[in-house]
Amino acid sequence: MSKKHLPFESVSRRDLLKLGMGAGVIGPLALTAGNAKAVNTKAHVVIVGAGAGGLSMANRLTNSLQGAKITIIDAREKHYYQPGWTLVASGVWNKEKTETQVADWLPNSVNWVKGMVAEYNPDNNRVVLESGQLVDYDYLIVAAGLQLRYERIEGMDVNLIGQGKGIGSVYASMNAAAATNDEIKRWINRGSGTGLFTLAPTAIKCAGAPLKMTFTTLSRLENTGVRSNFNVEFMTPSGKLFSQPQVNAFVRQRFEEQSVKRNDFYTLKAIDADAKKATFAVRDSADIVRDYEFIHVVPPMTAPDSLMQSPLAFKQGENFTGFMKVDRETLQNPDYPNVWGIGDVMGMALNKTAASVKMQAAVLEQNFLAHLQNLPLPAKHNGYTSCPLITGIGKAMLVEFGWADTMAMMPSFSFIDPMAESWTVWVMKDRMLRPAYYAMLEGKV
Ligand SMILES: Cc1cc2nc3c(=O)[nH]c(=O)nc-3n(C[C@H](O)[C@H](O)[C@H](O)COP(=O)(O)OP(=O)(O)OC[C@H]3O[C@@H](n4cnc5c(N)ncnc54)[C@H](O)[C@@H]3O)c2cc1C
Repeated sequence: MSKKHLPFESVSRRDLLKLGMGAGVIGPLALTAGNAKAVNTKAHVVIVGAGAGGLSMANRLTNSLQGAKITIIDAREKHYYQPGWTLVASGVWNKEKTETQVADWLPNSVNWVKGMVAEYNPDNNRVVLESGQLVDYDYLIVAAGLQLRYERIEGMDVNLIGQGKGIGSVYASMNAAAATNDEIKRWINRGSGTGLFTLAPTAIKCAGAPLKMTFTTLSRLENTGVRSNFNVEFMTPSGKLFSQPQVNAFVRQRFEEQSVKRNDFYTLKAIDADAKKATFAVRDSADIVRDYEFIHVVPPMTAPDSLMQSPLAFKQGENFTGFMKVDRETLQNPDYPNVWGIGDVMGMALNKTAASVKMQAAVLEQNFLAHLQNLPLPAKHNGYTSCPLITGIGKAMLVEFGWADTMAMMPSFSFIDPMAESWTVWVMKDRMLRPAYYAMLEGKV
């Protein structure tokens, strides 16, 4: 174990408890649920999306509103702990560990409409479902997450993941994460060949996930004892590996040390699955076609179609076009003050992580309750983003940062150096963050 790897034993039990409730799914602990006094209202609050943000808000508002009607809209009946999928795709977790039922996290008093919103009509305080059902609201919270855009890569289809054609992608689903693990195993068993790891040209959720997939695969390749038989390359559309500058520099150096060739300004454009060939659009160059034995595909991501086409989205030519328009600090839509946002769907730099949702839920609850009482909005989101960056199987770094001071690190724990790899942070990722995430869904943290 290198000096940088903190032995687990050196961390006190109290520190570990702090870790469990803290970082990763985390954020500053000051803004926790239950701070606000219950507010009386007869309002109908509609939440779109029963993922991390929607469920957190349903639970928080159930506790902090008295007399309100709360409705949540989402057709999906299963809830997935998406941060666990990198561990599934790395062969560390069984996929079942990431699946629960939405119903398990919903308070009985919340009305669940099982359908998908097809249209937002904020001028009439109404959403229209794909079934044609109309749902009117007094207040709307949009928590619809991101839409994965595999179709923007010619020849790519989620059904190709894990079919023995060398295609993996941790993002698509729980099953795709498990199938990605199978595909990586097949590549390793072949004993040689090129693995290409891509990034998307759009904002993506958990921007660390493509790096984590590369690092855990490198661990597995090193374990074969014939790492040099495998060629590993990473393609970046923007020239950057990660938005936070220190982490970007760290990963660049680590890739050099681990003989990962970086190809900057390469955007995955097309895949020929049968021929195992990937075409990349390359800045200032003609397209380049590359053979691979394994490719990890990161799809472009946008807000869901229904939101993109609505008056709630940033317009063409604005920053964050197509994502939900909110004031980045208060999380309120500036054009429709009874509409609020939370989570990945919002247009703002960084923070498409569950850890950010934890922070945003506390801010949104406080501001929403103040708005109901005609009080000034008291809470401000600071762009908090967190990612336990897995740098190999058995080690990780707890990277936490926000918008301030050009994305300076915002460490939650004095005993963890954000730039040091440690087994402690790996243990946190492996064993503690899932319960902390579920506590967040329940509105407890
Ligand atoms: C592979 C992977 C690894 C990750 N790793 C981490 C990590 O290590 N740490 C971390 O903090 N975060 C991580 N994340 C990110 C984290 O999971 C997301 O940021 C978080 O789930 C965002 O919450 P959300 O509520 O915005 O969206 P989601 O949790 O995705 O939920 C969105 C919900 O909206 C619903 N919906 C969509 N459209 C509609 C519609 N039209 N009508 C009704 N409902 C709709 C969907 O069905 C879904 O249930 C990871 C994500 C992935 C995929």
